[in-house]
Amino acid sequence: MSIVHYSDLEGKRVLVTGANRGIGHAIAVSLAKQQAHLVINYRPGKEEMAHKLKNEFEQIGGRCDTICFDLSNGEQIKESITSYIKEHGALSGLVNNAGISKDQIVLRLKESDIAETLNINLLGTMLVTSALTRSLLKEEHVSIVHISSIVGLMGNPSQISYAASKAGMIGFSKSYAKELGSRNIRSNVICPGFIRTDMTDKLEDGVQQSYMSDIPLKRFGEGEEIAELVNFLLSRASSYITGEVIKIDGGLYI
Ligand code: NDP
Repeated sequence: MSIVHYSDLEGKRVLVTGANRGIGHAIAVSLAKQQAHLVINYRPGKEEMAHKLKNEFEQIGGRCDTICFDLSNGEQIKESITSYIKEHGALSGLVNNAGISKDQIVLRLKESDIAETLNINLLGTMLVTSALTRSLLKEEHVSIVHISSIVGLMGNPSQISYAASKAGMIGFSKSYAKELGSRNIRSNVICPGFIRTDMTDKLEDGVQQSYMSDIPLKRFGEGEEIAELVNFLLSRASSYITGEVIKIDGGLYI
């Protein structure tokens, strides 16, 4: 797939969460091709995997640092990001990508599943962004991209907690854009439709086919297509876009 080159992404230090697989991996590969300076997180105990990813991204181009935190652990997020910034300096880009879905009809929803989904998808996103914010104030051309979901806009049966967490990200991003805009910090949301990854592979064939019939482009999306939009939003090519919510769904939610 052709990659648009953004010269200002070269050397730009960008934290991408959940870069080990799926959409996050496609985003990291694409940023490595732009020669960006990646920072990726890994969960405790996954050092070996993080090391392999670092090598993979550095072989493509640019640099890659690794930091350890689980998105469900607020203290770990704060400590890890603070000590990274202290040692290496500030970042100027963030992609809040990592997330989970625990699908269940409302009558069977467990409090623990609701809490876990909101904790990782919404609270985790907010805590990562907050932990970076003070250092971002000193940087120029800061851009934050949140990977929400089309489900956060249109709702979906059996995805109540997921939809709530993804809709929450939109409110957070818009408020953040208003609060930090005067400091030249931009914040935008991408709402993917059905993108082929582990998250969607686990859906039953019937569910996948019913999505397909509603997609005017008649195919599922690829991580690389999300990555192209992320690159644009991180780069100065989008310098007057903030507080925006952009759907990338093959027309699923027209
Ligand atoms: P995957 O399930 O393929 O990957 C999820 C990523 O999130 C993994 O890297 C995973 O790490 C990480 N993650 C999960 N829980 C935690 C945690 N507690 N702490 C740190 N990292 C964690 O998802 P996708 O690539 O499909 O989705 C990526 C994002 O895009 C998600 O936010 C999702 O909601 C969103 N999205 C996806 C769509 C799709 O069709 N695929 C559609 C719309 C939105 P690990 O390997 O360690 O578990």
